[in-house]
Amino acid sequence: PAERVGDQSPSIWVELTALAAESRAVNLGQGFPDGPAPKFVTEILKKISKKPGLVEAHQYTRGFGHPKLVEMLSKWYTTFYKVNVNALEDILITVGAYHALYYAFQAWINKGDEVIVIEPAFDCYGPQIRFAGGIPVPVLMQLRERAETAAEFKINFTELEEKISEKTKMIVINNPHNPTGKLFTLSELESIAELAKKYNLIVVADEVYEFHVEKHLDMIRFASLPGMFERTISIGSAGKVFSVTGWKLGWAIAPKNLLAPLKTIHQNCAYTCSTPTQLAVAKAFAYEFPKYFNNSKKSYLAYKLPKEIAVKRAKLAEMLATAQFSPIMPEAGFFMVADYTNAKNIPIFTKSSQKESDDPADLLFTRWLCREKKLAVIPLTAFFSTPEMKHSNSSMVRICFFKKGETLDNAKKILDMFA
Ligand code: PMP
Ligand code: GLN
Repeated sequence: PAERVGDQSPSIWVELTALAAESRAVNLGQGFPDGPAPKFVTEILKKISKKPGLVEAHQYTRGFGHPKLVEMLSKWYTTFYKVNVNALEDILITVGAYHALYYAFQAWINKGDEVIVIEPAFDCYGPQIRFAGGIPVPVLMQLRERAETAAEFKINFTELEEKISEKTKMIVINNPHNPTGKLFTLSELESIAELAKKYNLIVVADEVYEFHVEKHLDMIRFASLPGMFERTISIGSAGKVFSVTGWKLGWAIAPKNLLAPLKTIHQNCAYTCSTPTQLAVAKAFAYEFPKYFNNSKKSYLAYKLPKEIAVKRAKLAEMLATAQFSPIMPEAGFFMVADYTNAKNIPIFTKSSQKESDDPADLLFTRWLCREKKLAVIPLTAFFSTPEMKHSNSSMVRICFFKKGETLDNAKKILDMFA
């Protein structure tokens, strides 16, 4: 294979999703809702599918995005960023957020360019940066011992600044944050903005969980900070917004000059994304617009989704606490990190040496939990790149709570074995 492919080992998703299926485990690993998709969303797609003659629904559409979808996104994000987001120039529709991220790195990173990645981090950033010839430079968030909330994951900004070199071209900020569930504060985002300005960095703002935020907290989109739209590539995901992760539709939003090279790659790689899903997402956003901005109880994004998430988050937190897994309460997203150090009936290999294998302790634990106890979760070290973190004997896992009640109840029966 080409050198850029690098390490060919399977990602955590490839390994654990297969292991969960093979073990018939209760799956609180990969982040997707396993209950029914929202009815208003599937109804829209149903209506579209009933019109085979509708060319705008079933044939190739505009390469950079269906006109109706980019129009809608422009309306939403102009409101959010308080900057005019041009539908035809500033938005590119992609195959999920993964694809938008991939384009962002391919379009802007040259061989040897450095990209700051705040860790723990969604695991595809590192490989994608390396595919582009870049060098990911991790900056670790610190967590106080016995921390109770994800707000306590903190960036040391002095350290972050020290990691910026002549070669640093970009910084990736994932807010709300996967895996921790942290929601970055205005002051934290302003500190990042200051550094971006000082060192002339491009900011990739992965905001796929922008609507999965606790009601009393403020989601601050990075591009809405003064002067930041100009240097930010914002990434979103319709799969996440409307709880239909299998639709795999995402976007990159940035000013024309920043987005142009992403479009050049897209026009020769995918050219255009699936038309019926784009039209359906456009209609779902149109349906939601008045409800969301009027804060109506009928709004899925302003009301129903955050409510559902809050109920499930509380349920998982209680289940974990009973099982002596110490949870770190998230502020956003649909994941919770928990420490299993005090849980009972866990074999010692998970807590101590690496004798049996070079794999991190929490990965050995998650494999065991999946195979032997039939519960799939994700080891926290999957979100770190450095050998020190991989071998830190972490005893933390990431657990997805956006699952139907029955799945959570089944998980509870398993977790109770550790109480
Ligand atoms: N970024 C983050 C932080 C994610 O958690 C995910 C997973 N949904 C993605 C990007 C990729 O999203 P998509 O499924 O739209 O490709
Ligand atoms: N973003 C989701 C998660 O973190 C899904 C990951 C994936 O599809 N590879 O679980």
